[in-house]
Amino acid sequence: MRWKNTSFVICVNLIGTLLAFPTNEPDGRAICGACHPIKENFTNVHLIPHTHDDVGWLKTVDQYFYGKDNDIQVAGVQYIIDSVVEELAKNPDRRFIYVETAFLKQWWDNQGEATRAKMRGLIETGQLELISGAWSMHDEAVTHYHSIIDQFTYGLRTIDEMFDGLSCAKPKIGWQIDPFGHARETASILAQMGFDGLFFARLDKDDRARRIKDREMEFVWKASPNLGESSDLFTHAFYKHYSAPDGFCFDLVHCTRDDPIITDTRSPDYNVPERVKAFMDFVDSRKDTYQTENMLVTMGDDFTYQQAASWFDNIDRLIKHVNAEQENGSKINLIYSTPSCYLQAVHAADKVWKSKSDDFFPYADGDHSYWTGYYTSRPTLKFMERKGNNLLQVCKQLSVLADLRQEKWQDLDSLQEAMGVMQHHDAITGTEKQHVAEDYALMLHKAMLDCLETSNTALNKLSAKSVEVPKVEYKSCLLSNVSQCELSENNVNFVVTLYNPLAQETSSYVRLPVQNFKHKVYFNGSEIPTQMIKIPTPVFSIPYRTSTAEQELLFVATIPPLGFRSFYITKTTEESPVPEPVADDQKFTLSNNKLELNFDPLTGLAASLNLKSENFNYPEFNQNFFYYKGSGGNILNGQTSGAYIFRPDGDDPTPISSQAEIETFKGEIVQETHQKFSDWVSQVVRVYTDAEYVEFEWQIGPIPADRNDPENPGKEVITKYSIPAMQTQELFHTDSNGRESIERKRNFRPTWELDLKEPVAGNYHPVTTFISTRDGRSEFGIVTDRAQGGTSMQDGTLELMLHRRLMYDDARGVGESLNETFDGNEGMIARGRHLMYLELLTSSPTPVAKKRRWSRDQMNLAPWTFVSGTELTEEEWMQNYAVNYKGIDLEVPENINILTLEPINKGEDILVRFEHFYEANDDPVLSLESFAPTQHLTERFGHEKVFMETTLGGNKWKSDTSRMKFKIEGDQEIATGDAEFNPVDNVEMYETNNVVMKPMQMRTFIVRNDSGSLAASVLVLLFSTFIANFIA
Ligand SMILES: [Zn+2]
Repeated sequence: MRWKNTSFVICVNLIGTLLAFPTNEPDGRAICGACHPIKENFTNVHLIPHTHDDVGWLKTVDQYFYGKDNDIQVAGVQYIIDSVVEELAKNPDRRFIYVETAFLKQWWDNQGEATRAKMRGLIETGQLELISGAWSMHDEAVTHYHSIIDQFTYGLRTIDEMFDGLSCAKPKIGWQIDPFGHARETASILAQMGFDGLFFARLDKDDRARRIKDREMEFVWKASPNLGESSDLFTHAFYKHYSAPDGFCFDLVHCTRDDPIITDTRSPDYNVPERVKAFMDFVDSRKDTYQTENMLVTMGDDFTYQQAASWFDNIDRLIKHVNAEQENGSKINLIYSTPSCYLQAVHAADKVWKSKSDDFFPYADGDHSYWTGYYTSRPTLKFMERKGNNLLQVCKQLSVLADLRQEKWQDLDSLQEAMGVMQHHDAITGTEKQHVAEDYALMLHKAMLDCLETSNTALNKLSAKSVEVPKVEYKSCLLSNVSQCELSENNVNFVVTLYNPLAQETSSYVRLPVQNFKHKVYFNGSEIPTQMIKIPTPVFSIPYRTSTAEQELLFVATIPPLGFRSFYITKTTEESPVPEPVADDQKFTLSNNKLELNFDPLTGLAASLNLKSENFNYPEFNQNFFYYKGSGGNILNGQTSGAYIFRPDGDDPTPISSQAEIETFKGEIVQETHQKFSDWVSQVVRVYTDAEYVEFEWQIGPIPADRNDPENPGKEVITKYSIPAMQTQELFHTDSNGRESIERKRNFRPTWELDLKEPVAGNYHPVTTFISTRDGRSEFGIVTDRAQGGTSMQDGTLELMLHRRLMYDDARGVGESLNETFDGNEGMIARGRHLMYLELLTSSPTPVAKKRRWSRDQMNLAPWTFVSGTELTEEEWMQNYAVNYKGIDLEVPENINILTLEPINKGEDILVRFEHFYEANDDPVLSLESFAPTQHLTERFGHEKVFMETTLGGNKWKSDTSRMKFKIEGDQEIATGDAEFNPVDNVEMYETNNVVMKPMQMRTFIVRNDSGSLAASVLVLLFSTFIANFIA
């Protein structure tokens, strides 16, 4: 007997409860209560009661949770959960799903034991299903996979903590109902977490229409060309949105016009017949859209169920009276359900499904309404979020390496939680109200300070040569982005410590603002070369910069893997005037021994690019800044450009200027050209000695805009890089959530006939970390320091949107124009960097993939800079503190990264996640199968420790996890693919072997200190499998 086919009425929880370990299906899936049975040859309508609780949008996270400021939006999440728990308990037929772990945890912390036990009971009976399980419902366009995986891991592990690892509580469905388009990488990540399916609402209007017509609203998403079956995911797109059907929203707060179902025949308002008919008509209108006899109907909306009785009482009646019509021959069967129960029923239908291998970007809900503006909206918040991830990895790793255990536990949680909130689809996207954006920034800032405190504790522990040495203050300069750092500017002697979060040695260019004196830099007793470089003039006028520093001290640091180096710096009494620009005859060329970039002497703009090492020259290379006018709506369509939507007024962007004033500075370490395009657009172009890329540091703002002046509209500022000689056949590549790349073609979608009414906005795609284009000869690409929108509107051209300031709301709910100011008047200034690489493809092998990878690491996982003032001499410092620390002794293979090294279970255990970060066709050598040095890490953390593999989310043993299989047209069954990847359930193996890694594979392990408790949990696993087999 196969449980999977008949699993609607199985209940074997008794034995599970006795073991405090729920029983499993033979294939390891936990059974939580029972799904309501479906009827053959009926349309089975799965009613899914749900609430969509944004972790910040129109109100802040706390305003939403506590129900504060209801004049903005009537929403109090604590009351929703209170009320749902009460109402579920009244009728065992009722079902509900809950999604946002951030709110669930906040609620949980405020409950007593009785209420907690009640909720646990509801989960065990399957009445309440926790779904997705991440801290928030992440946006999919502008989020980075590192942070997506982290926030899932944190959310899923929090659920484990709340419910003592209860299997029933572990989510197995992705519920991404509101994000504005969907990423292939997100689907891949969900599959790797062991999920069975994904449900969402938003896809392009024409894609939706085509899929409804062809009955392809359900399909198998082939989410990774590298990982194969293990990243295939069954996907369900909603017919319309996630609201209840028209007329059937029973919310007392949000839907005051929909009638309740009045069953008293004596009442003048008795309405059962017409309400039943209306619902049955609704079902009939939709029932042929999907392939099976099952139909999913969401019963809920944003912040609904604050008074859950109104919903459940009416749904009870709806089910009773619609089903009563079966006696009159109706073939409609209503049931309370959850996505898991729906999916189980669809799976049991045993159909063969179509597949898809691209993604769902960009998203449009109207001919002139492309949701491609939010790829760039609020660029400073997007940058801060990326820095948050960089710091989070540093402080997690340092906590493990220094074995902090419980010393600074709370502090690590606060940044994990802040980063979880930041991934939310109205946080990092920039689609929240202004006061909410400010709340996010403050929350993230505070959490970063907590993590810096943890890092400080760890660095003290790792660097002190004896217990007697005085404590050091390892601090950070969080305003280094505007060349401001009190510690380097005001101290006579200070120590700069750089920690490298990568598993490979790395080199970094260290820049510190200093006063106008000569500085000497020492490492390990020897003075090292430095250069002084002028801070670009436009930086001085950034209003919130209070520094008086005019120049930066620059030196090169090489830092060991998961390690640090400390550099001792002393300010001499010898004055150092601000460096002078080079003479006119030298100022139009930047070069090192690998490349040369020339500027046009007449315009000051970039003009040609020469790869000296390859003896290869592009006689024309252009780069300049432009803006699109943000549309205020026009006669064709009223759609405006706003926080979500990019709608330019005109397809041709206006150049900021046709020329730039330039000054060039040259030294031993870097050559820089400072360009000024206007009062509010400037740039530094850099070529470091030995670097294989050109760096462009742009500064945009305050963007001038006046709603009442048609000559001065809202603006969307872009930069364009172009090599006109490249024949790129309308093709370019962007990354998906910062991981695998996706081919894009201008004016084209792979799965439907495209008729673009917005030729620019409809060609924009999310660029989380890079955009590139290539022809037969070469590839050039831009790596970004934050998510941006990008496209290639002409062959050989790459375009990225940097900043936007807009005068109109775009009518998608936020109710404000995207008009960020720093004092209520002047527009916000944004400063950031692009790295540009150019590589010949004619040589073989070509290092292009390596270059791309290296640049992305430089941006996303840069060494973190700590600065400490000191009274000690260099010699005394070295006597007291280590200046060179390597966290791991072994060379990790070049294509393997330690993606996560994190203390869990209050520091008793460690979560380690490895990734192979090359795609199968990237490079003849680096794309080969490799290995993760688990053997070495076992030794590093002590012989008594052992490795166990988990799913990607770190909450299920890999050996105890399987996923539903779905048949794909023209393909074999999808499987988990796990067999191929050889999951290891044998503890011994990790003590002697390293683990094989395939291209783009990620593998997650828990390193357990106490092998006794591990053995016990293995025993329970074996025992529960035995029981399941026995029952079968
Ligand atoms: Zn939402």
